[in-house]
Amino acid sequence: MDSHRIIKMKRVKNIALIAHDNRKEDLLEWARFNKGTLSMHNLYATGTTGQLLSKELGLNITRLKSGPLGGDQQVGAMIAEGKIDFLIFFCDPLEPMPHDPDVKALIRLATVWNIPFACNRATADFLISSHLMHEEYERRLIDYEARRKKFIEKFRVVK
Ligand code: PGA
Repeated sequence: MDSHRIIKMKRVKNIALIAHDNRKEDLLEWARFNKGTLSMHNLYATGTTGQLLSKELGLNITRLKSGPLGGDQQVGAMIAEGKIDFLIFFCDPLEPMPHDPDVKALIRLATVWNIPFACNRATADFLISSHLMHEEYERRLIDYEARRKKFIEKFRVVK
């Protein structure tokens, strides 16, 4: 059985917002409705999504590169570094994407690091209306490092 470790999430979350082109209207509408809550947190977004959100809603957002130019990978790296702990990603399930491997990698890292992650509007509604949005939260992670050490130990013994 894997051991676990805890990462503490603060009351103020570091939220990444991303929408594929066909889903940008929807994210904009969702963000307008939830502007009050979103503005209590630190916001990050991929290039075009961030530009739209700050222009249309006046939200203060740190903009990364556009998704197809590496923005999704930047968000993934920030999740791995503990700099993003909440992801709203309105994905388009019907269009092939040139940066599909980046999208998959991002979803994988959100899963590995056990961060709250919405890929559609209903999930985003449930997440943002949770009381945990305004509280600290102990995120439980599988301790992959311990697993890796165990593997190395075993390998040494066999060797
Ligand atoms: P964009 O990137 O916000 O720059 O459009 C989103 C994406 O396609 O991943």
